[in-house]
Amino acid sequence: MKKSTCRGCGAPIVWIKTTAGKSMPCDAEPVLYKAREGAAGKIVTPNGEVLSCDLDVGPDEATGIGYISHFVTCPQAEQFRRKGAPKDGSHGN
Ligand SMILES: [Zn+2]
Repeated sequence: MKKSTCRGCGAPIVWIKTTAGKSMPCDAEPVLYKAREGAAGKIVTPNGEVLSCDLDVGPDEATGIGYISHFVTCPQAEQFRRKGAPKDGSHGN
């Protein structure tokens, strides 16, 4: 897992290679999650699996520890979106 710093906001991030073969910037701080199909949240496990999950769960509820995509939490994410290649830009505007 490669550690780095976000160019947008300066937060510490880690790069996790997903099972799809894509490196994804995630918050460096791992969080507890509860995997649940259809849940609104997304988590990247240390193995690179991307799961739907509930976040903000207690230790007794959690099914594992993973990393949140930094695009979700970065205050500068808008900027990335504008600049970045519109590969999976399903949302306009
Ligand atoms: Zn950032």
